[in-house]
Amino acid sequence: MKYIGAHVSAAGGLENAAIRAAELKATAFALFTKNQRQWRAAPLSDETIENFKAACSKYHFGPGQILPHDSYLINLGHPVQEALEKSRAAFIDEMQRCQQLGLSLLNFHPGSHLKQISESECLARIADSINIALEQSEGVTAVIENTAGQGSNLGFRFEQLAEIIEGVEDKSRVGVCIDTCHAFAAGYDLRTEETCAETFADFERTVGFEYLRGMHLNDAKSEFASRVDRHHSLGEGNIGHTAFRWIMRDPRFDGIPLILETINPDIWDQEIAWLRDQQSD
Ligand SMILES: [Zn+2]
Ligand SMILES: [Zn+2]
Repeated sequence: MKYIGAHVSAAGGLENAAIRAAELKATAFALFTKNQRQWRAAPLSDETIENFKAACSKYHFGPGQILPHDSYLINLGHPVQEALEKSRAAFIDEMQRCQQLGLSLLNFHPGSHLKQISESECLARIADSINIALEQSEGVTAVIENTAGQGSNLGFRFEQLAEIIEGVEDKSRVGVCIDTCHAFAAGYDLRTEETCAETFADFERTVGFEYLRGMHLNDAKSEFASRVDRHHSLGEGNIGHTAFRWIMRDPRFDGIPLILETINPDIWDQEIAWLRDQQSD
């Protein structure tokens, strides 16, 4: 069973995310549980939590079909102690919000060294940040997203994802989300069935499908191996349709949220329908 959806808006109330996803005939969705460009948010009220849970159950979205994304401000590998602690506190809050909402996953970008510490030092900080957050939450898996490697963002090589996982004590609560645009921009080719097979064989060898908790299905405006993060609608960019059809026909991507972050929300319903149709001839 494939769970297919998009990163929908939660404007006007978190329950609206579930309603919007249902309108798209989605079987999965992503959302921000707070404003993604601000550090602070009011705690979740009992009413918000109940409305969200009620909408999810009404539209049949279980926790395994929902992939919340954390704030863009958070850098769990920050080189400066004070800023690192601010990010860790915000991330713990995000984990606890997910827990309160009955969610089981939290997707985040690993972090950036800002050219002030080495890659391995930054990866170790990220793993420590995850360990701290897991200690202070329950039932929520930290889902590391691969990046395009723009600027000093880490997590653009599968080896870097593996190194972070290696440093996490509770391996049952750490996973990864592979963003196809980010992978392509980072130099993992996806333009043909052969290159898709090679890229995910590399993923299996380096990280392992047992850690795959979600996918972001995005075509790329950015060039191959450009380390530039620019999403595009499916089939309109430099990846093309083939990769998405290939993913939809591979059972290793069953049972996890497959989320569009493509640039035109007006055609998300069509993109979801197209993905659904690719599962069989
Ligand atoms: Zn993404
Ligand atoms: Zn991106």
